[in-house]
Amino acid sequence: MHIVVIGAGVVGVTTAWSLHKRGHQVTVIERLEGAGLETSKGNAGQRSYGVVSPWASAAMARKALTYLMDRDGPLKMRMPPSLDTLRFLVSTLRFAYAPGVFGLNRRAMLRLGIHSRESFLALEDELNLVFDGDHAGLMHLASSPHMMTEYVDTAEVLDELGIENQLLSPQEVREYEPGMRGNGPLHGGLRYATDGTGDCHLFSRSLAEACEKAGIEFRYNTRVNRLVADHRRVHGVELEGSNGMHERLEADAVVLSAGFASPLLAKEVGLHLPIYPVKGYSLTAPLLDAEKAPRSTIHDDNFKVVSTRLGDRLRATGFVELSGFDRQIPETRLQTIRKSVNSRFPGAADLSAATTWTGFRPMTPDGPPIIGRGTRENLFLNTGHGTFGWTLSAGSAELIAQVIDGETPALSLDAFRPGRFAE
Ligand SMILES: Cc1cc2nc3c(=O)[nH]c(=O)nc-3n(C[C@H](O)[C@H](O)[C@H](O)COP(=O)(O)OP(=O)(O)OC[C@H]3O[C@@H](n4cnc5c(N)ncnc54)[C@H](O)[C@@H]3O)c2cc1C
Repeated sequence: MHIVVIGAGVVGVTTAWSLHKRGHQVTVIERLEGAGLETSKGNAGQRSYGVVSPWASAAMARKALTYLMDRDGPLKMRMPPSLDTLRFLVSTLRFAYAPGVFGLNRRAMLRLGIHSRESFLALEDELNLVFDGDHAGLMHLASSPHMMTEYVDTAEVLDELGIENQLLSPQEVREYEPGMRGNGPLHGGLRYATDGTGDCHLFSRSLAEACEKAGIEFRYNTRVNRLVADHRRVHGVELEGSNGMHERLEADAVVLSAGFASPLLAKEVGLHLPIYPVKGYSLTAPLLDAEKAPRSTIHDDNFKVVSTRLGDRLRATGFVELSGFDRQIPETRLQTIRKSVNSRFPGAADLSAATTWTGFRPMTPDGPPIIGRGTRENLFLNTGHGTFGWTLSAGSAELIAQVIDGETPALSLDAFRPGRFAE
């Protein structure tokens, strides 16, 4: 089959590879000039298979107000909120308080995380991809005794699913991360022993290059304006090049992996995808002293900032902001991120030389991604990965390829079904 994949973020590129491996002819359409340049560009770099959890949770809803009131708090919202923001929040609250839904979605996402780890290992074994990647574990710090008790509950779910983890004393935390010499409060931590790291942009670029060598066509600087469809099938896509070119490209099947832009194309074929662009920020700084830097990836619960080692760089990332689509980077956000780094890893990196970035998580109101068949028999969706698209990409790609080939997917896709928002 000739399959068109829309979007060359990490989800689109991994999808293209999975389809190619199954013998399909694949064309990837990307409106930007290369792979992994939108949300996949500057994320926190965690492949956090054991951490994945739905955005819609009653616990999070209870903390939301406190987070909003705190200047350094992780949750921000533009006031007054827009109608789109309000709609998204109402839908999130509905999922958060629907009995049993959080637990089911959490387990479904964790199973997808486990599957994705296996898929990444196979991919990395097969291709020599250069992306500062590792699987050296991930750590969540506890800056209060209360947080340690939350981690005890988390560890129970991880044990249930066979995900290797360790509850650590402050001394054990420092043994795993000897560079952590700052004075931030520390009451222990939870280590996800088999989780990993990696630069998602470098990975997307490196995999796209491998795809091109293998015969997959990438058409950059080309936007899909419209799906060409009748009531039963999609026949192709209407393209527009940055040079003014217009073309209709025929396809036997289409996969929509356009991140936060997916709803626009889906709408035309009667598919409601309530994906909201949840903003976040990162800074990436060259290391000054590798001995003082994280070895892997650390989640500082004090500021809700993640610091990740990516080769000879440190990436620090934070904030969940509901302000619609706005690429500004306020200095106050960067200040909070720098505060976290300095309280844990002082002197590790040259923060004054950091590059800064903002990106938009393609978030569904409940949290799980959208994986499955759309409103036409040959339209498929692999999108809406929210906070965990880098982590879940390799596994999601295999699952959608199985669906396209008419196989029973390796995991139940119930939590990821595209039609769940209309129910
Ligand atoms: C601050 C922050 C930190 C994060 N940290 C992590 C992390 O540590 N671990 C993790 O797993 N995830 C993390 N994420 C989430 C992760 O980055 C995303 O889930 C993931 O990048 C989404 O990938 P994607 O391919 O779906 O979307 P994108 O990377 O946005 O790719 C979609 C592509 O589609 C293209 N496109 C859109 N419309 C069209 C069109 N009409 N025609 C052609 N092309 C089109 C876009 O240009 C884009 O390149 C983080 C996100 C943010 C913002």
